[in-house]
Formats: sequence, C-alpha cells, structure tokens
Amino acid sequence: MSALAPLIAERIRERGPITIAEYMAICLGHATHGYYMKQVPFGREGDFTTAPEISQVFGELIGLHLADVWLRAGAPNPVQLVELGPGRGTLMADILRATKGVPGFHAALSVTFVEMSPVLRAEQKARVPHARWADRLADIPSGQPLLLVANEFFDALPARQLIKTARGWQERHVALEDERFIPVVPEDAPLLDALVPAALQGAPEGSFYELLGGEEDAAVLNQRLSQDGGAALIIDYGHAKHSLGDTLQAMRQHAYADPFTAPGDADLTVHVDFEQIIERAGKALRVLGPVGQGRFLRALGLDIRTAVLAKANPPKAEALVVASRRLADSEQMGALFKVLSLSSPAWPAPAGLDS
Ligand code: SAH
Repeated sequence: MSALAPLIAERIRERGPITIAEYMAICLGHATHGYYMKQVPFGREGDFTTAPEISQVFGELIGLHLADVWLRAGAPNPVQLVELGPGRGTLMADILRATKGVPGFHAALSVTFVEMSPVLRAEQKARVPHARWADRLADIPSGQPLLLVANEFFDALPARQLIKTARGWQERHVALEDERFIPVVPEDAPLLDALVPAALQGAPEGSFYELLGGEEDAAVLNQRLSQDGGAALIIDYGHAKHSLGDTLQAMRQHAYADPFTAPGDADLTVHVDFEQIIERAGKALRVLGPVGQGRFLRALGLDIRTAVLAKANPPKAEALVVASRRLADSEQMGALFKVLSLSSPAWPAPAGLDS
C-alpha cells in the first residue's frame, strides 16, 4: 500500500467521496507523499521521459524562438523569463546555453521557476544556479515584459472529470469500497451542464468531458501579457479542440498503471484541451497554433541543428538523429504533442507557428 492511501481513505471516510481534481491534487502535490514532492520522476530510472530529457535540441530551439521574438520586439531590458513546472531544469539550461551569444539577452534576463516541489527545486538549482523560485505565477511581480515556457505542466494540474448520466453532466468522484479506491458519480452530485460546451452537451450517456486545471495561471498570464508585453509557449500532449473522452492516466516505470491504485506512487495526468486554454486567454492576446510539436521544431531548424551536432560528434550522430525523430515524427511525439503560442498583440508574431 502506498503511504498516501490511508490518508486519502481517512478523508473519504470522514467527508465522503472526493472529486478527481482533489484526488489528483493530493496524489501529485501532498506535502510529503505527493508524487512530485518526494522524488525525481523523470528519466530512464524514473517513470517517464520528457522532451528536454530526450534531446538538447528541444531546449535550444525554444531558446532561439524566445530570443528571436525578444530581439524583434526591440530587445526590451529588463525582461522576465519564467518557466512553469521546470522538472529537472534541463529545458532552461538548454535555453540559456543556446542564447548565450544573443547580444544583450542574458544581461536583460532574470529567470524565475514556478515549482511546487522542493526536491525538483534542488535539481533546478543544480542546473540554473542564479534562478529565482515562486510558488505560483501570480507571485511573480508584474511590470516587466514576460517570456514564458511551460512543457508538460498543464497536463499535471488537477483536472475535473464530468460524466454524462441519465440526469445530466455530473462530476466524477473517488470513493472507498472494501478499502479500495473506485471512481463513482454520486447520485446527488450537482448538475454541471453549463460547464460543457454546447456542441458536446447532447453526448450519449457515459461520455466524459474534462476540465483542465490552471485557471488562475491562465488569468494571470492573460493579464501580464496584455499589460506588460511578452510571449508564452505552452507545450503539451492533448487535443486542439474540445473533445469527449476519459484521458486520466497513470504512468509508472514507463508503463500505464491504474490511476486508483497506489496513489502518490505514479504520475497522474490528463490530455490537455488546448481550446480551453485559448478560451481562457480571451480576446486580448495573439493566439498562434496549436501546431504539432514536429512541425514547430522542424520550422525552427530541428534537422539542421541535429545535423550540425551529429557532424561535430560522430559517435553520437545516430543517437542524435533518433532523438530528433522521436520528438518530431508524427507517429512518435510530433503530432500528439502540440505547441500553443500566446503573445501580446503589441509584440511581433513569434516564429514557427505559421499555419
Ligand atoms: N517541464 C518539465 C517537467 C514536467 S513534469 C519537463 O518537461 O521535463 C511537471 C512539473 O510541474 C514538475 O516540475 C512538477 O513538480 C511541476 N508542478 C506540477 N504541478 C505544479 C503546481 N501546481 N505548481 C507548481 N509546479 C507544479
């Protein structure tokens, strides 16, 4: 049994079934036993691998994308570079290495990580020692243009799952049955039809609709980009348009696991509904994409950069090519993973997202 299981069981016994969002929040973020709070989950030894851990070229191209839009915006100084959910800090280290030669960029920059996990903060400090840390995006002072990147952050935020029942759309909860956690829809759960897009409300009984977490981050991002200028890149796996389906998944040692077994010992995520992020961004921002990660990286020069690195390091050439294909080929990460750009309309359009 996981260390969290008895704590969640007690809570359910005391107060009744908890929502999927509450369950995810405890599993991932519980101060001592939460999945991200107690360990470094990435890499071959861990439970899953993310794009920056697959190839340095991922972060390098994102660094050039950000430095390019900053230069074309007139190289504002100072500028804040913020990453949401930086994991081991690898993406930021690659961004910074790739942009060292951009005149004035590093002198203008301050780097802030939004990270809840002390274990991961320590990892990030080892790779980017001069960074600052914040618990939430809202805690970062306003008043300076913002460059922001978030890779596989929104999928890890507590999401709500709604299910179409005979009564209407109701929220999925987690209950306790014979000391095991099971998903249920309590009969008296409120009707939430208003939260489901009109076009999907008539879906058949048993359909799922998921509501992404991160409303506060979206609102702050919206306000900062329109007020202070800047550009944000949101990269994640998911769908471009609202869609139906149960995408709650648990990953453990690179394999799918049951989300309701061993809470806190597996990564829990949902697919990201990019249309929800765009709707939250409101009308004040420029929205580009989402485009497939493969198309984005290739537009920014993935193949050329890979060839240059391969030529400089022949023993690694094949591994570099394999890694780039993994990031970009549509049957690998290139299509399921998508890139969305939100930016200030007062800034020039960021590169790599033309349709
Ligand atoms: N971007 C990294 C890691 C992705 S995993 C990569 O691509 O490798 C998700 C990251 O978001 C972890 O660093 C996790 O600790 C952090 N995180 C998850 N929920 C968070 C929250 N509510 N607030 C701050 N950080 C969070």
